[in-house]
Amino acid sequence: MSRDPPLFLDIDGTLTRREGGLDAAVIGPLRSWDAPIILATGKAFPYPIALCHYLSIPERVVAENGGVVCVDDHVELTVNRDHMTEFKGAVADAGFDFGWGAADTVNRWRETEVAMAPSVDRDTIEGIAERHGLEVIDSGYAYHIKDPSVTKGRGLERACTLLQLDPETAVAIGDSENDEAMFELAGRSFALANADAVAAAAADTVVADGFATGMLSVLEEISST
Ligand SMILES: [Mg+2]
Repeated sequence: MSRDPPLFLDIDGTLTRREGGLDAAVIGPLRSWDAPIILATGKAFPYPIALCHYLSIPERVVAENGGVVCVDDHVELTVNRDHMTEFKGAVADAGFDFGWGAADTVNRWRETEVAMAPSVDRDTIEGIAERHGLEVIDSGYAYHIKDPSVTKGRGLERACTLLQLDPETAVAIGDSENDEAMFELAGRSFALANADAVAAAAADTVVADGFATGMLSVLEEISST
């Protein structure tokens, strides 16, 4: 019996609508997908876990661009987080914050990287990041400051080992430069019409439609049924 391929799925720009927010049309197809789904996102760990919970799918998540890996009952950090504490102190000393307001729910539960609002001056933060051996990448929704060794691809590689899954059998769908390493790991990769130049160049296929509409067109194309 043929089965659907495993999925590596970005969230923002991939499961969402152009105007933001989850596209409700993704719920049914993901809930009934007949193979493992790993959500791979730049968001802090609780966000993709909550999404798995409400989609009623197993908690298989690569969060913080690869810094956190969760497969069912196993959670691990792929990088030491002490350097991030130092970096955050240096940014505060320089008189900057990360641009999300007082509650900062974007970073509140973030363990291995920091996300910065697009409204913040990237050059200044990038200078401080470089002095701490960190890099800045653009997910299209935020700038992420992280250890250069941390990528969605490395996180997914670890998740696949835990799941005893060959990444060559998986299909990856995403839209941003932080999806490049995920595209390289998967057997097949699709960048959506809204993808940035890095993601579009890295993918095997660029999809005609954007956002969740494009993602659903890929599922239709690759589904076994
Ligand atoms: Mg994205």
